[in-house]
Amino acid sequence: MKNWEELNLIKSIRSLVSKNGHNVLLGIGDDTAVVNTPAHEKLLYTVDSIVDGIHFLGDLNLWESAGKRAIGAATSDIAAMGGTPLYAMLSLFLPQEFPVRHVNAFLKGFLKRLKEYGMPLIGGNIATMRGKFAADTVVIGKAYRGKFVSRSGARNGDIVCMSGITGEAMAGLDLLTSGKAKRYPGLIKKYLEPVPMLRESVRIVREMSPHAMIDVSDGLLQDTLHIAEESKVGVVLDLDSIPVSEGVRYAARLMGKSTYDYVLTGGDDYVLVFTVPAQRYKAVMKGVKIHTIGRVTRGKGIRFYKDGKRADLKLKKLGYTHT
Ligand SMILES: [Mg+2]
Repeated sequence: MKNWEELNLIKSIRSLVSKNGHNVLLGIGDDTAVVNTPAHEKLLYTVDSIVDGIHFLGDLNLWESAGKRAIGAATSDIAAMGGTPLYAMLSLFLPQEFPVRHVNAFLKGFLKRLKEYGMPLIGGNIATMRGKFAADTVVIGKAYRGKFVSRSGARNGDIVCMSGITGEAMAGLDLLTSGKAKRYPGLIKKYLEPVPMLRESVRIVREMSPHAMIDVSDGLLQDTLHIAEESKVGVVLDLDSIPVSEGVRYAARLMGKSTYDYVLTGGDDYVLVFTVPAQRYKAVMKGVKIHTIGRVTRGKGIRFYKDGKRADLKLKKLGYTHT
């Protein structure tokens, strides 16, 4: 199929997007979108980029997955605040010579996820660029009953919790690029099509009222450090409590890495890390296991414990930083 053409592309996106959603007065097609603001709600705004060669690998031709990844990663920041997504906007940067079938596949994945999250696409932009494919996704959400959870509320004595397993996305990427993808297809999917923990997030806020929360995009250590720095506290992580899945062990053996390289510094997991006072902690919430991985202390930075003793860790890199 030939290259994309802006007006045709807009027309086709418009036809794929359902008629204006709830509270949307004007959607795609006008100069701006117009929405009714829910009364007395706190609105959350976030934007996230996806760039070919950095956040996904266009060479693999998995454009539908790239679309899911773009909206999944952007929406995860709403989950990180304990919020619910309401609307999305998409800004595409397309090289002049770019097959329209790739754009269509990207949109297919993107719009599929929007439907699952019950969030309409209310506008966007298409620009030509020199270079590779890139896209910005804006997600607008609302806080759960006016309560939002920032990175900065952690208090000395809180326990540090995690709503899932880290390291699997990076293990998936390693398996994918080393051609050993078949053994653990679930891990590859975790990397290619991350799913934000939206339901879990609202439950965590409702049932535990966490002091601070973040989604793990750069790696467990890096993102826990964000909480520590913003809250002006220290964190002690108990290395024996951090879950390591079978797939991560397999990838570590295969790649000659430590499992810590995956679970502590592998990025793109999009699980939630949060801090709560011990009396509010719940081990399982509607089938989701909540791991306790450490505690908040005075001071600053992150320290490690293993077998009940202070431990030093040498890691290949601190986090997977998207530049
Ligand atoms: Mg985030």
